[in-house]
Amino acid sequence: MTAATASAKNALLTWPRPAGPDPAGQPLLEFRQVSKIYGTGTAAMRALDGVDLRISPGEFVAVMGPSGSGKSTAMNILGCLDTPSAGSYLFRGVAVETLSHDQRARLRRHYLGFVFQGFNLLNRTSALENVELPLIYRRAPRTERHARARAALAQVGLTGWEGHTPGELSGGQQQRVAIARAIVTEPSLLLADEPTGNLDTARSHEVMDLLVGLNRDQGITVLMVTHEAEMAAYAHRIIHFRDGRVADDGRAGGSV
Ligand code: ADP
Repeated sequence: MTAATASAKNALLTWPRPAGPDPAGQPLLEFRQVSKIYGTGTAAMRALDGVDLRISPGEFVAVMGPSGSGKSTAMNILGCLDTPSAGSYLFRGVAVETLSHDQRARLRRHYLGFVFQGFNLLNRTSALENVELPLIYRRAPRTERHARARAALAQVGLTGWEGHTPGELSGGQQQRVAIARAIVTEPSLLLADEPTGNLDTARSHEVMDLLVGLNRDQGITVLMVTHEAEMAAYAHRIIHFRDGRVADDGRAGGSV
């Protein structure tokens, strides 16, 4: 390991996390010839096949592609839930596959926020407590947790709804609670997997406007899987997967 690599790794794993934006001039995340193979021998399935990808801090990227094209596999690796079979995934210049399980968990807690199609909220728990959850994992003191969770709920337009449980909220509101939970830790990267998949059109556009605002005003890099071209059009760039490869990687409204 070079001195520069070692220092990038130390910076990434230092807590409290160094203040300030992600370093400009280097990709926030990069795939170098990433392959993922499930199974062995004749049953081997190449879910990703030598993917190269670079995403800069502050980008808003949509990921599209038919079912089975490798989107979830790529998102799992990008979210540090899985590692490549071959190739390298660099996050802020650090090869994630060289990190231990605990170090990857720390990276997730400090730098990543996740939003899912099905919201994934705790049902019997208030909106405020749902949003506080990532801060509990980070052992933040109670008063700080409350204040930050309230601020995050305010950011998604849910002031006054803190005490409501998910069952008392509409689908659009539930997804906004989930977004508040994802941003309460001030992540570098928001990974959204079909965030509008369970919402009607009006609610979908509200959620997209929210994601656009977070990206534009707070500089959170957003990577979103979607099947819907209308939602992908909010992104600056659309990456199309096909058969485990990047089939097209272009700006929205361009030659895609
Ligand atoms: P997408 O998200 O675009 O639908 P996936 O990444 O889920 O695509 O899947 C890519 C390919 O890898 C598919 O052929 C799928 O069947 C296969 N695959 C995904 N996960 C596994 C797994 N855990 N074991 C075996 N094959 C898998």
